[in-house]
Amino acid sequence: MAGGLRVVLVGTQHPGNIGSAARAMKTMGLHQLVLVAPERFPDPDAWALAAGAVDVLDAARIVPTLADAVADCQLVLATTARRRSVPMPEFDPRTAAGQLRGEVEAGAAAALVFGRERTGLENEELQLCHGAIRIPANPDYSSLNLAAAVQILAYEWRLSGLAAASGGGPGSEPATALPADDPGAAPDPDDRPASHAELEGFFGHLAALLEQIDFHKGKAPDMVTQRLRRLFLRARPDPRELRILRGILSDTQRQLRSPTGQ
Ligand code: SAH
Repeated sequence: MAGGLRVVLVGTQHPGNIGSAARAMKTMGLHQLVLVAPERFPDPDAWALAAGAVDVLDAARIVPTLADAVADCQLVLATTARRRSVPMPEFDPRTAAGQLRGEVEAGAAAALVFGRERTGLENEELQLCHGAIRIPANPDYSSLNLAAAVQILAYEWRLSGLAAASGGGPGSEPATALPADDPGAAPDPDDRPASHAELEGFFGHLAALLEQIDFHKGKAPDMVTQRLRRLFLRARPDPRELRILRGILSDTQRQLRSPTGQ
């Protein structure tokens, strides 16, 4: 899968929802569907509810984990019905769609992630994402049906494209919530936000060093890890910047092995 916006459904329980989500996507011009460990798929219920969008189901990719689904993506936004303990930037659907549109038009791959019907996304899954999108629903009853949530985000995506095509409207405002690429920059393979897999490589390296220097002093590393992830995901480093950071980590590790440093 190259650039464009993909819809990722994580651990979907009811195949009918997968079919309805495919239909919701196609009506709004979205075609890339990735299923992370669906409970029942392929299943006739999915094909029955997809109606004329069976081509989206036929082309759906099935992967074991969310990390696999978004490894090559430069922007990954999760949807969630409620506020979570994981600290992360939060967007409304319209702002998120404008942000995703900007990335995709610059040639990036981006993902919109949806959780399980009963339990949504796990904290570990949310932590893989750059930000969360909450549909501002009734606070007393805020959980939409999965395919209905897909429809709302797909519609906002569609609107952001129509507004951009007609050269006006709120959807065409440059998104400011996350730093945007400079559209006039010379083409350079490193002139893009690092992919998800590149960031995960850095996070793994950083965790190893923190372990080596006993940074956590016997305490659980979870809170520090979450905050560091949030910091670097917000900064959106490019591959060159990640290489510098990893160089610092490697040199530190080398100095630890030969403390005289000479
Ligand atoms: N009890 C679950 C509800 C999951 S609903 C929870 O609290 O998370 C299934 C999926 O639909 C969610 O994981 C999310 O992807 C999407 N969804 C439902 N309501 C939403 C809302 N108000 N805002 C954003 N996404 C929503």
